Amino acid sequence: MDDPINLSIGQADFDVPQPVKMAAVEAIQAGHNRYTVTQGLPELNAAVLARLADRYGFAGRETMITSGVSGGLMLGFMAVLDPGDEVLIPDPYFVMYGMLATMVSASWGTYDLYPGNELTEAVLEAGLTERTKAILINSPSNPTGRTLTAAELDAVGAVAARHDLLVISDEIYDEFVYDGPYVSAIGHVPEERLLVLGGFSKTYGMPGWRMGWAAGPEDVVDSMRKMQQFSFVCAPSIAQHACLEALKTDMSAEIDEYRGKRQRMLDGIGDVYDVAPPGGSFYMFPRLPAGAQTELFIEKCLERKLLVVPGKAFSAASTHFRLSFAASDSTLDRGIEALRSVAAELAAG
Ligand code: PMP
Repeated sequence: MDDPINLSIGQADFDVPQPVKMAAVEAIQAGHNRYTVTQGLPELNAAVLARLADRYGFAGRETMITSGVSGGLMLGFMAVLDPGDEVLIPDPYFVMYGMLATMVSASWGTYDLYPGNELTEAVLEAGLTERTKAILINSPSNPTGRTLTAAELDAVGAVAARHDLLVISDEIYDEFVYDGPYVSAIGHVPEERLLVLGGFSKTYGMPGWRMGWAAGPEDVVDSMRKMQQFSFVCAPSIAQHACLEALKTDMSAEIDEYRGKRQRMLDGIGDVYDVAPPGGSFYMFPRLPAGAQTELFIEKCLERKLLVVPGKAFSAASTHFRLSFAASDSTLDRGIEALRSVAAELAAG
């Protein structure tokens, strides 16, 4: 498609900060081109640990550096789930969760996390089976942008403790929060049952660098390190060195800009679409216009060169769609115009 209005993108539209790029170049020149230890550079692990301790009072000691949060998810699922075990994931969900469960011969169930529905102990318990080993949470969420409250995270912690479950918390969008400080699962879910996965891809505009980290109970992180040794070997050495610099970089200007993009989008479509204001990430998950089926809606978007992702890519239901505001303001404005015009045409029948 020539010059599409692309609101389907899952990565920030800014580039890696210049000092971080320079740190990568310097790492290459200094000869940091060999394997690192499997768990990642000690100084990077220490920096991740210090950040978690400072921000959330994390008391644990065990971290490792992974090849993206994707790598952390894969190793975490391999470490925790045996064939036949079950993991409970949110609905709607980031597509990788169910796929990874299937890859390790586990099955997956869902708990309802559609906009407006509170996450309670009862909601979680309704999804548990005899084989459930873990609950996955993802705040802020892809695809909805929803952030979990302290009370909701407490509910997750209580259910995990009562049913002897591990909680895997995908916190990749932790920096992209717009209505107050980030509420991590740390401090709400008992640490001995919590595996936290964090990343660099979104925050520093470096999804191609394949960098993430994991922090959690010693037995889980130990198994993950063992499996990293026999699979990824280590996260990219050059990027590990550069991420030491990334962790010192203040991204608040970029996040402020994204807060503005969220508002621009809400102001632009909030009166014609039923959309919950996202507390974080760079997605929102509006309901399809009344009476419209996904196929017709997407067809009308494509007629206007607008790319969004149908909700059924993230759920068994097809009542919503995901749009990403990780785009230039001019692209957002074109998107708003197209979305308003689609809604008007569908309303006119
Ligand atoms: N978790 C979520 C919720 C995501 O949206 C993504 C990227 N789309 C990932 C994990 C994986 O990110 P990465 O492997 O680049 O760290």
